[in-house]
Amino acid sequence: MIDFNVAPFTGKETEYMQQAIANGKLCGDGPFTKKCSQWMKEHFESQHCLLTTSCTHALEMAAYLCDIQPGDEVIMPAYTFVSTADAFVLRGAKIVFVDINPKTMNLDENLIEEAITEKTRAIVPVHYAGVACAMDEIMAIARKHNLLVVEDAAQGVNAWYKGKALGTIGDFGCYSFHETKNYTMGEGGALLFQEDKYQEKAEILREKGTDRSKFFRGQVDKYTWVDYGSSYLPSDLNAAYLYAQLELFKEINDKRMAIWNLYNEAFASLEEKHLVERPFVPDYAVHNAHMYYLKLKNLETRTAFIRYMKENGVQCVFHYIPLHTATAGQKFGRFHGEDRYTTRESERLVRLPMYYNLDLAQAEQVAELVLKFPGYQEI
Ligand SMILES: *Cc1c(COP(=O)(O)O)cnc(C)c1O
Repeated sequence: MIDFNVAPFTGKETEYMQQAIANGKLCGDGPFTKKCSQWMKEHFESQHCLLTTSCTHALEMAAYLCDIQPGDEVIMPAYTFVSTADAFVLRGAKIVFVDINPKTMNLDENLIEEAITEKTRAIVPVHYAGVACAMDEIMAIARKHNLLVVEDAAQGVNAWYKGKALGTIGDFGCYSFHETKNYTMGEGGALLFQEDKYQEKAEILREKGTDRSKFFRGQVDKYTWVDYGSSYLPSDLNAAYLYAQLELFKEINDKRMAIWNLYNEAFASLEEKHLVERPFVPDYAVHNAHMYYLKLKNLETRTAFIRYMKENGVQCVFHYIPLHTATAGQKFGRFHGEDRYTTRESERLVRLPMYYNLDLAQAEQVAELVLKFPGYQEI
């Protein structure tokens, strides 16, 4: 059986985790946590980077730092993971979903402006599959209407927009290091931001409402409870696992890219015959091979495809059920305008196995099976 995902492992993680144990520092903000955030600041040219327990938590921190109040509105696509919305719902926000661009599956920047009301406070672009949203247009709309931008770059670590790392363009950027993502620490994430004005509040929020970060830097004599906070810092053991992966980021990226390219070349002929649609990467984007998906004619074809692959020993999966169709989505949000693409495109998208430890021979095997699927219908 070829699984859809296996947590990436390079071999070096064990050594660094042993080092973390030997350091005798297992709580948060130890040496490996510092190395990880420093590495990201340098490679992604970010002024600030705080390692967190998940991307969900990074999003929660961002929603808090945006000072979202009950009744405020936040614009995002409905084709995303629940956490994108949950983080803002926790602060009492109303979620306003807009339709996606079917070519990229990212929110359609042309639909944002008409969804803005006097209650709108933030826009949350999600870089689906590590393919950048149209950030220049989104940032221009945000600045014109005085809105904040929180990039959900959970899938966009080491992916780029016009030379800038995803997650460093908006006011806040959120990364995921969950085991299904390109670089992992099991569960984990990071919050990135560029403006110094957020630093103190972010550190306090992350450290249970205390000024402990200042204390560690010797800026205060003792640390106390200074504001609202929670605990968003991961164990240094997890950071040790991640640091091994960040050091080998090029190797991990190259391997994923080789699989992605193998699939993409193999399916060109299917696309020419209008049996599938392959992912589209705009010229402005450098993606990170986070995901390889195909779009089939419709839900029925996709169901048959997933069954066929499974019968032949390959696990393929669909993705998000649009949030506005879920019980909580109806309670906490509304869809602005017409759902022309969100539901339709989500029903026909299928993801193929894609992970660092998948051999190219296995990827070849997957590709051959896909080519032989007997149930294609012309799109
Ligand atoms: C994975 C993912 C998340 C959540 O990440 P966690 O680290 O598991 O909290 C949020 N948004 C998107 C788009 C994701 O793909």
